[in-house]
Amino acid sequence: MRVKLLLIVALYSACGLCGTSNFQVTSVSNAAFIITEKDYGTNIGLIKTREGVVVIDPMPGKKNLDKLYQVIQQRSKAPVRYVLNTHQHGDHTGGNAYFVEQGSKVVATVSDLPEFTEFELKSHTSKDKVFYHSKSNSVFVGDIYDTSWHPTFYAGGLSGFNQAIEKILNIGNEDSLIIPGHGKPTSKVELRQFRNHTITWVEEIKALKEKGMSVEEIMNNDRVKALLRNFNIANKQDFIPKNAFKRFIERTFTVIDSGN
Ligand SMILES: [Zn+2]
Repeated sequence: MRVKLLLIVALYSACGLCGTSNFQVTSVSNAAFIITEKDYGTNIGLIKTREGVVVIDPMPGKKNLDKLYQVIQQRSKAPVRYVLNTHQHGDHTGGNAYFVEQGSKVVATVSDLPEFTEFELKSHTSKDKVFYHSKSNSVFVGDIYDTSWHPTFYAGGLSGFNQAIEKILNIGNEDSLIIPGHGKPTSKVELRQFRNHTITWVEEIKALKEKGMSVEEIMNNDRVKALLRNFNIANKQDFIPKNAFKRFIERTFTVIDSGN
């Protein structure tokens, strides 16, 4: 099983073969797929269940949605019956209306879907959902975890973040595939590293803030720059733009001030 997990993670990054126009498709099992749309980078779940086909987090954009529809049809002749969303941000819900027009039902819970278990958490937004598909052993965690960006735990603060990660680590088993809202799917090992990097980040920013350093001074601090690089797991040349780096520090300040 471990070999399989590694294979899925490797396939995601070396997916020249499975690219369909603006989409990259990774097979988790013969019934579960991750479709990554390139404009938003959203990881969309496609799962064929006994109760019908389920799509998780369809991104917006009519043109891309038409293509997404084709990509789905290549893997399932049955229509999409249910749409689930990990949270209410547009890059995860923008395609809902499109699927409703095709006859799908947007559901707030998985009560009609026995293959799924859901967990409600507060980290990235005040109402984050995590969906566990037991048959494929995959956990769709939305933007509580992003492997292509710095952490964004602004709604729940560090305590909400820690609770959310702890919860996710207790879902499934050590071989569960962790599917972030954006970026490559990973394992629990990497999720634990991400948690540690986030805790270290907040502690460091807090210490520098208490020393009276400004946001600009913190941006130029070598240790802070190194800590930011911990989140660049894909080793991108330009990880995040300068204004995003600045905003990340400012928002970390806000989290620290709120005492969460
Ligand atoms: Zn997102």
